[in-house]
Amino acid sequence: MKDIKAPITEEVADQMVWELPIESKLKKTHIKIDDTTLRDGEQTAGVVFSNDEKINIARMLDEVGVDQIEAGIPAMGGSEREVIEEIAHMGLDASVLAWNRANLDEIKDSIDLGVDAIAISLATSDIHIETKLQKDRQWVLDSIRKAVELAKSHDVYVSVNAEDASRTELGFLLEYAAVAKEEGADRIRFCDTIGTMEPFRIYSIVKHLIEETGLEVEMHTHNDFGMAVANAIAGIHAGATWVNVTVGGLGERAGNAALEEVVMALKYLEDIEVDIDTKQFYEITDYVMRAAGRTIPAWKPIVGSNMFAHESGIHADGVIKNPKTYEVFSPDEVGLERQIVVGKHSGSKTIELKLAEFGIPISREEAAELLPAVRAKAVLLNRSLFDKELVKLYQNFIAEKEAVAEAAVEKAVI
Ligand code: MN
Repeated sequence: MKDIKAPITEEVADQMVWELPIESKLKKTHIKIDDTTLRDGEQTAGVVFSNDEKINIARMLDEVGVDQIEAGIPAMGGSEREVIEEIAHMGLDASVLAWNRANLDEIKDSIDLGVDAIAISLATSDIHIETKLQKDRQWVLDSIRKAVELAKSHDVYVSVNAEDASRTELGFLLEYAAVAKEEGADRIRFCDTIGTMEPFRIYSIVKHLIEETGLEVEMHTHNDFGMAVANAIAGIHAGATWVNVTVGGLGERAGNAALEEVVMALKYLEDIEVDIDTKQFYEITDYVMRAAGRTIPAWKPIVGSNMFAHESGIHADGVIKNPKTYEVFSPDEVGLERQIVVGKHSGSKTIELKLAEFGIPISREEAAELLPAVRAKAVLLNRSLFDKELVKLYQNFIAEKEAVAEAAVEKAVI
């Protein structure tokens, strides 16, 4: 057990429905990561990647070690089609997947690009079937049957996506999954397309889906209510073996489950190691966000600049004594650095240590004397202090002390 969890009583343990399926604990790489930064991530309103950026992102994802890269939608044609073909021929370790509607020509075309996996997506909720597709449930079943049959005849990995699965009547979702299975689909993607699930509900539905169909399930969750990662993890507890993520959580509306958050949650909260090089998380997130014209919020879980920045005197003192007092994992594990920030909430120990970094020895008593000036300056500026501002305050403080001392000496001489 990691030191972030306290032991619980047997009574509490007995009531936990959250125990992971035992095979997850036994098989270290049981959970497979499918990254859709290049598809759902790029679908974000206002985001376009250049083809060079897509190639770079695919290479970085492969180096990080994701199992599958969802490279885009060939039916969009033009340069989108070209770059998917190029990614499919880069010799990556990761599987390369192309996203399709249940359209036979589009599927054939995708397979011709040389990808080894395809997703076939059809909406399964009545609202989507009736108003968006203007079809009926039977049409959906017939279409997915033909599409999967065609794809499997070409010997590629097939993911059958149930779009808007969250609002799909469960009986029909099971029928849809059963057809996919009969035609040899490799997995079904449970899409919480509009992000309206919560962990307890999605756990029950996914568990039922797996028990009834025996199909491998992939979680595709959106963050409209801030639950994308929790819902993905709940699905994994229910037995899902794939999780669809994006770098930094980029994606439609409030985004998708974030790669770095899901992986670190699996590792630290669930004790599941996935074969991912987490040390590259900051670098890849920074790259993707720049390419998307976004910035990483300072408070972003896992890779935000504030993850390892400590200002409060009590926290900074704790972290200096033992980082585990206020940090779950070490910053270098995700490519960040620890920062002790001097500001309104700092204590004298922080000031002492910070000045020592600049070769300025100061006693704890002097640091305590300097502290009110530091706090006043931070309040005045409405932010924490730059290093040079702290040094300047120190110089002023020393100059004043010396002036006072000199005045005292002069007075004594007189
Ligand atoms: Mn989506």
